[in-house]
Amino acid sequence: MDWVINLSDLAAAYLFIYGLKRMSSPATARKGIVLAGVGMLVAVLVSFLYAFSVNAAARAHLIVNLPLAVIALAIGLGWAWWRGRAVPITAMPQMVALYNGMGGGAAAAIAAVELFGGQAQDALGLAITLLGALIGAVSLSGSLIAWAKLDGRINKPWRIRGQRYLNATVFLAAIAIGLWIVMGARGGVPVGLFFAVTLAFGVMMTVPIGGADMPVVIALYNAFTGLAVGLEGLVLQNPALMIAGMVVGSAGTLLTLLMAKAMNRSIGNVLFSNFGDVSLEQHGEIKGRMKPVEASDAAITMRYAGKVIIAPGYGLAAAQAQQKLYEFVKLLQAASVEVKFAIHPVAGRMPGHMDVLLAEAGVPYDLLYELDEINAEFASADVALVIGANDVVNPAARTNKTSPIYGMPILNVDKAHQIYVIKRGQGKGYAGVENELFYADNCNMVYGDAQAVLGKMIQAIKDLGESTGGIKAAA
Ligand code: NDP
Repeated sequence: MDWVINLSDLAAAYLFIYGLKRMSSPATARKGIVLAGVGMLVAVLVSFLYAFSVNAAARAHLIVNLPLAVIALAIGLGWAWWRGRAVPITAMPQMVALYNGMGGGAAAAIAAVELFGGQAQDALGLAITLLGALIGAVSLSGSLIAWAKLDGRINKPWRIRGQRYLNATVFLAAIAIGLWIVMGARGGVPVGLFFAVTLAFGVMMTVPIGGADMPVVIALYNAFTGLAVGLEGLVLQNPALMIAGMVVGSAGTLLTLLMAKAMNRSIGNVLFSNFGDVSLEQHGEIKGRMKPVEASDAAITMRYAGKVIIAPGYGLAAAQAQQKLYEFVKLLQAASVEVKFAIHPVAGRMPGHMDVLLAEAGVPYDLLYELDEINAEFASADVALVIGANDVVNPAARTNKTSPIYGMPILNVDKAHQIYVIKRGQGKGYAGVENELFYADNCNMVYGDAQAVLGKMIQAIKDLGESTGGIKAAA
């Protein structure tokens, strides 16, 4: 039986890694997710074979627990299937936070069984179990707070004076209790205390962080969860758990670093600064004024342009206007306008947010260009159309050293001949700073919800087509 288990573990590990590789391109990502899911299914099913590879006494024990495992699987599967289908794309970060927390919780639960069960372990085994428990418990409680913040259930960061010292004290207390257990303390009191303190640390570490920083925090907790699962895999001598944990841990770490780099911030800055607070707003007055135009005028200018580059941002997702946007793009293309999308790595509120959103509307991947690929092209664009984006097109990131976003790479929309910005009003972006782009001479504001504005733009082009008989709408 052992060889079947080992071979299945190898197959599961291969599927995880191959699936992850396929996820690196939007064209193959869907298949990658399915492949990794099949790997997970293999890893779960093969766990049941362990009952056949142990002695009779252990098998009797496992068989007693079998109905419980099946019930837990059925509940988990049913809930995930239902939620996965029902969740709107804008609520995806919350869902990731919840699943992530559950992964950490599962690792902590494995450790709890080992620690409360008092299985004989040497000091190294105990230390690994406790480390996995600590990281898993922090990831569980921290991810639950992240979920509550992203879901709007906790609306503001809770900070108290001396918070960092208090957090450091709680962390040191968890380490001290862990050492106490390694040195021989057994039973419910030390282990229960250990879990209470580590869970509290996860909460205390996350509550002061601003809600908008949560996607980076979730990526970090994702890395934690992977590490915890890998450590518990080591304790259980389960290769599938070890490999899955390592894959999640390293992917989470890379994602965290990439997100921080794209925002030009350090992980310490995400965890310990009050980014987005109004108090951090840059000083200095912006000259000029915002100049509104009608949606129809902007649309007709684009209809007669040679090249239009679209910079989408969070507002496009908030308005759920991706279908309307693609309808508008198809009308422009039908009128022989060259249209490209400029995708900033942190546009929106989760990694790959714009790619997912535009893919959902059926926008072909070859119209999507990353920041480095497209930035030089803005100078040759007749129009840059900014839809619900703010920080990722703010030139202050290049010029204003006092701005909290100074140094963040941005889309060079200000270099285009004419800029149109669709947004509802004077709302600031995630970083909470003013955007001098909106005051530039070559920039006009098209006020309104992105969905409504794009609806008007589509109508304007269709009306023009009817009156001139010029455009064969592809939409
Ligand atoms: P921003 O949050 O900077 O700006 C969004 C703009 O959209 C707002 O100014 C708002 O203005 C407008 N808006 C909101 N709702 C609508 C609507 N219904 N219709 C039209 N406009 C709307 O978004 P960006 O995408 O430019 O920048 C993303 C920010 O998020 C960056 O600072 C990034 O660092 C940060 N971030 C990104 C993460 C990621 O993984 N992608 C993770 C964490 C943070 P108004 O209210 O006037 O309409």
